[in-house]
Amino acid sequence: MQGGSLRSGFGENAEALFLTSGFRYRRAEDAADRFADRQDGFVYSRLGNPTVRMFEQRLALMEGAEDAAATATGMAAVHASLLSLVQTGDRVVGARVLFGSCHYILAELLPRYGVEVVLVDGRDLDQWAEALARPTKAVFFETPGNPTLELIDIRAVSELAHRAGALVIVDNVFATPLLQQPLQLGADLVVYSATKHIDGQGRCLGGAILGPAAHRKDVLQPFLKHTGPSLSPFNAWVLLKGLETLDLRVREQTRSAVALARFLEEDPRVPLVLHPDLPSHPQHGLAKRQMSGGGSLVAFRVGDGQKRAFEVLNRLRLIAISNNLGDAKSLITHPTTTTHQRLPDAERAALGITDDLLRLSVGLEDPQDLMADLDQALGPR
Ligand SMILES: *Cc1c(COP(=O)(O)O)cnc(C)c1O
Repeated sequence: MQGGSLRSGFGENAEALFLTSGFRYRRAEDAADRFADRQDGFVYSRLGNPTVRMFEQRLALMEGAEDAAATATGMAAVHASLLSLVQTGDRVVGARVLFGSCHYILAELLPRYGVEVVLVDGRDLDQWAEALARPTKAVFFETPGNPTLELIDIRAVSELAHRAGALVIVDNVFATPLLQQPLQLGADLVVYSATKHIDGQGRCLGGAILGPAAHRKDVLQPFLKHTGPSLSPFNAWVLLKGLETLDLRVREQTRSAVALARFLEEDPRVPLVLHPDLPSHPQHGLAKRQMSGGGSLVAFRVGDGQKRAFEVLNRLRLIAISNNLGDAKSLITHPTTTTHQRLPDAERAALGITDDLLRLSVGLEDPQDLMADLDQALGPR
């Protein structure tokens, strides 16, 4: 937690915010040396900044990664991790359950540049094996997936991917660095939206790509430097401080999420509850193998379609209707009409995103208060 601190000469305790776009050189020779990589130091904040670097180093330590590259948003991280890698004629395999904008990048953007993209049911290893029977450049998936909390076997898919020559990129947002370490399970790169649990208090956007130092230096750094999705030093400072409490928050939020999931599972008004730590989760065994906790999100159905889902949402008093997640405040969303609105009906149905499904991101409130709020919102028994 104290790793990744670059101190100035003033002996400050809290890490300094270097809100500067550029850097000065004592002599013209120093500028020339820094540009030629003969001298260490910063030259321009699009390329690097001390506060951003502290965030990268601390996150890398928490993940157990050699290095990290910060980006302005989670989507910039996803985009850069893929676009820095592929070229026309390459092949990418991904899982069908994806955050909406990740789906856009894989299903719409990459094919536009002549990259072949194959999407599979991430739970089905036979489908992965078939898709990865041909040479492939990258494999991309998220686990647990949004919003139904399906899991993908990181170790098994990584083995198949490596045989096809592919680099495995895991979007680890729902698990956070605390609950699942994809790099230890065989993945090559991990991407985050730092906007979620890493900030954890809903203040700013950010993202990161973690993996081998050589990959950052040779593949990511040139791409990021010349395309410019740089993280603002101010946001880096907020996110850096967020990392100091990430462990405490995520563990507490996960504890509350499990308590709420159990509470909802016993409720006859709730036909289905999904959380990886519930023994009723279809992939509970895999959750126990690759995660040290199922995370702070719970999905549940309220029965009877969208009308009833909206009634329940509109009756909530403590839990706010919002599509963000990982916040200290509990937030709930109706995926069919918000985050997954873009998907055709048939595709949503195939993913198990029913009209009465709600996704709850459990915050740091007293779980008893959250239960009471859900209980009154669910209406008469
Ligand atoms: C939010 C999110 C993203 C995108 O992150 P932004 O910071 O909003 O750009 C990507 N993947 C997952 C799983 C997310 O939840």
